Amino acid sequence: MTRFDPQALLSPRVNALKPYVPGEQPRIEGLVKLNTNENPYPPSPAVITAIHDAAKDHGLALYPDPESTDLRRAIAARAGLTPEHVFVGNGSDEVLALAFYAFFQQAAPLLMPDVSYTFYRVYGRLFGIEVDLVPVDAGLRIDLSAFESRAAQDCAGIVLANPNAPTGCGLPLSDIERLLEACPQRVVLVDEAYVDFGGESAIALIDKYPNLLVVQTLSKSRSLAGLRVGFVLSQPHLIAALARVKNSFNSYPLDRLAQAGAKAAISDEAWFEKTRQAVIDTREGLTLALEDLGFEVLPSQANFLFARHRGRDAADLAARLRQQAVLVRHFAEPRIDQFLRITVGTRDQCTRLQEALRKVLAT
Ligand SMILES: *Cc1c(COP(=O)(O)O)cnc(C)c1O
Repeated sequence: MTRFDPQALLSPRVNALKPYVPGEQPRIEGLVKLNTNENPYPPSPAVITAIHDAAKDHGLALYPDPESTDLRRAIAARAGLTPEHVFVGNGSDEVLALAFYAFFQQAAPLLMPDVSYTFYRVYGRLFGIEVDLVPVDAGLRIDLSAFESRAAQDCAGIVLANPNAPTGCGLPLSDIERLLEACPQRVVLVDEAYVDFGGESAIALIDKYPNLLVVQTLSKSRSLAGLRVGFVLSQPHLIAALARVKNSFNSYPLDRLAQAGAKAAISDEAWFEKTRQAVIDTREGLTLALEDLGFEVLPSQANFLFARHRGRDAADLAARLRQQAVLVRHFAEPRIDQFLRITVGTRDQCTRLQEALRKVLAT
């Protein structure tokens, strides 16, 4: 009798998957959680009211609007575009996955920086997309001319985060234009998860470039990581392609609560301004404090800092901080394994981090 092999039950590609590992979400009392770039402030109170209203009566008995029409209208109005320029999904991670599926399964490899959001490589493996990693420069900045010369030999497209993750470094729009022009026959996907904390958005280029896809999320600057809403802005022909993929996979990626809450968040400009400015202000203070403690800190346009201590091992620091109930993120990956990625928290959280660091550095 042949031995039962559970792996043989799986699709062959699934055996080879190496899934993304998100930052941990432990339940520790008094935890200072600076490891997953969540916003330290709550979402707009209007979000809670809208979610409550959407759940009232028999609202949840009915399927949600499969096209998320009201939410797309709100996002479009704010960006100065039409709803046909907007696609929404269950977090920008899902939106990214659908975009990889829709645009990047080509004969040539997909280009991305070697230091970037690691989920991009996971999607590449999931969909069998070959990936070419373009090295960032010695300062961990994206190397424009390396991308240009690599794109000249055909590619499936370009994916990058701007500001980049996990470095926090941003590119000016003129550089994004150079990439769009280097790769005119393929989609250039700009992931703007952190743009509201000081980056330059490529939304302004959408009318001019039919190959530009801008991805944003409500998880960071709108304090809604728990609601799972991300969106794409681009010309209608790319939006229509994403809708084809989505409607071949899941007609209802956003439930009623998410659509209502997200729309309320997008509409509360005052709350958005206040909370993102608070994060930006705290970031500047935290940068100086970390430098005083012996860190080299990359200039950040995001809600986190990427920092390397001049004398101490990063993995060891992260482990010792954890013992003090302070979580930061360490990536055991080439080129960045001596850095810590530290989310900008409230002022109190940043003070707790500094106290914990002082203790750890004294031992
Ligand atoms: C956080 C993050 C995302 C994921 O955002 P969700 O909308 O919560 O799925 C996407 N891209 C980058 C670069 C991120 O840091």
